[in-house]
Amino acid sequence: MRKKIIAGNWKMNMTPSEAVKLVETLKPLVNNPDVDVVFCVPAIDLIPVAEAAKGSNIQVGAENMYFEDKGAYTGEISPLMLTDAGIKYVVLGHSERREYFAETNETVNKKMLKAFEHGITPIMCCGESLQQREQGVTMDFIRQQVKVGFLGVTADQAKTAVIAYEPIWAIGTGKTATTEQAQEVCKDIRACIAEIYDAATAEAIRIQYGGSVNAETAPDLFAQPDIDGGLVGGASLKPDFGKIVNYK
Ligand code: PEP
Repeated sequence: MRKKIIAGNWKMNMTPSEAVKLVETLKPLVNNPDVDVVFCVPAIDLIPVAEAAKGSNIQVGAENMYFEDKGAYTGEISPLMLTDAGIKYVVLGHSERREYFAETNETVNKKMLKAFEHGITPIMCCGESLQQREQGVTMDFIRQQVKVGFLGVTADQAKTAVIAYEPIWAIGTGKTATTEQAQEVCKDIRACIAEIYDAATAEAIRIQYGGSVNAETAPDLFAQPDIDGGLVGGASLKPDFGKIVNYK
C-alpha cells in the first residue's frame, strides 16, 4: 500500500513573513496521518517555514536545486544547503522551470542523481503540452522525460522517488485533466517504471497528479489506483489545501 503524498507548490508567491503566517493558518487544517504533507516553498522561505512547521506533520521541500555540491554558481542553491536546513524534498523539472529557465531532461537527471546522493527525495515533474496531447504523442513525450530523468538512478532509489504528472495545459489554468485522463497517464508512467526497473519498483514509486487540483476534484483523482496524491499550486496557498489533504 503506497502512502498518499500531497504537496503544495507555492511557486514565487510568499515573502518570508507571509510564508510563516500561511503555515500558522494551514497547520491545524492539514493534519492527516494517512498522507505525507509537503510544503514546497521558495529558497528564502525554507528556513522560516521549517521553523514554523516544527511539531506538525508538515514536511518542507525546495522548488529547485543545483546539481553541484558547492562552487562558483552564483544564485544557485546546493543540496548541502538543503540538507543542512533539514529539507527532505525537492521539486525537479517543473514545467515552469523547463519553459522559463532552460531546464532539460539532462539537467533534471543530474539533479535527480544529486538529490539521491544527499538523501533528498525528488518530486520529478513531467507532462505534455496541449499540442502534444492533440498530436497524440503524450506518452512518447512523457516516457522520454521519465527515462532520461531516471538514467543512472538505482531501483532502490527509484522506489523512494515521487513523480508528478502535470499536463502543462492544466497548470494554473483552472482546467483539471479528467480523472480518466489523469489515471491513464499515471498508469502508463508506472508501466514505464516497470520497464526500466521491475514490477516491485513500479509498485513502490509514488505518482502524483498536478494541474488545477482543488477541493472538489481531489477526492475523485486521489481515489484512482495509480494516483498517489497531488502536486498543488494555486490551491495550496489557501485554507482549501486543508480540504485537499483531507480529501476523504
Ligand atoms: C503546479 O504548479 O505544480 C500546479 C499544479 O499548479 P496549479 O495547481 O495552480 O495548476
